[in-house]
Amino acid sequence: MTKQIPQPWGTPLKEEALQKHNVLTVDYKPKVKYAWASGIAIGRFLNGLKDGQIIGTRCDNCGRVVVPPRIFCEWCFKPTESWVKLPDTGTVNTFSISYITADTTRIKTPIIPAVIQIDETTNAGLLHLIENSKPDAVKIGMKVKAAWLPASERKGSITDIKHFAPVR
Ligand SMILES: [Zn+2]
Repeated sequence: MTKQIPQPWGTPLKEEALQKHNVLTVDYKPKVKYAWASGIAIGRFLNGLKDGQIIGTRCDNCGRVVVPPRIFCEWCFKPTESWVKLPDTGTVNTFSISYITADTTRIKTPIIPAVIQIDETTNAGLLHLIENSKPDAVKIGMKVKAAWLPASERKGSITDIKHFAPVR
């Protein structure tokens, strides 16, 4: 008798189909190189990270300051042409204690992804990881500071910030 793997909807997969490779598996690892333009706002943001600087934009109409920067204000739909250098400190707006990685690998030591509102911004945050803290010590409202890669290792990527750590 063929064992059926329970599925919440649709046609169940059969063990036999998996053994005969009659279904698509995820073993294929394509060697594909690609590139895309990051755009005006994110390009400037990424260049700032390479220099160890968090760059945002301020709407001159309503005063909203956002990071990552945008070229228009989502509140009043005006162009935002004022670039601002922001501190690398902020406040934890929300977080999760995760025992799986982004590729769903189970891990014993959890990662703590968090949305961090960078100081001097208005209702906008960066998604990043919190480290140097026990999971049960992380709280909404906790003050954190960016931990940067050494300047020689930065590439103009969000990972130029290794993580955020509690301000002690
Ligand atoms: Zn505005």
